[in-house]
Amino acid sequence: MSDCIFCSIINGDIPAEKVYEDEEVFAFNDIASQAPYHFLVIPKRHISTLNDTEDEKLIGKLSLTASRIAKQKGFAEDGYRVVMNTNKDGAQTVFHVHLHCLAGRQLGWPPG
Ligand code: AMP
Repeated sequence: MSDCIFCSIINGDIPAEKVYEDEEVFAFNDIASQAPYHFLVIPKRHISTLNDTEDEKLIGKLSLTASRIAKQKGFAEDGYRVVMNTNKDGAQTVFHVHLHCLAGRQLGWPPG
């Protein structure tokens, strides 16, 4: 989508620190990192929110991509959090589905 910031990152029109890429998904560091590790895993195909897809394989791949990156970067055993904010009450601000992965410090629960 032409007015989607994450589509622009995938297209290379907006720079980002790439963490991983394959034919279906793209992962990059969050510009406003909330933890020592904070990256986003997104589908290359534009999907606005989690409510707008039934693609179990693709949505599942976002999580497994995060866990594979966690293992590669060496923080999988210490732990991490994956979260997908959805719509207003979920505090979603970018309307291209994305999975946050945060790690590298003790995270609090419940979130704000
Ligand atoms: P959410 O609030 O769940 O929609 O999260 C959107 C995330 O995208 C936020 O954590 C932002 O910091 C992040 N973000 C927005 N623009 C960029 C960008 N150009 N590069 C990397 N991360 C971004």
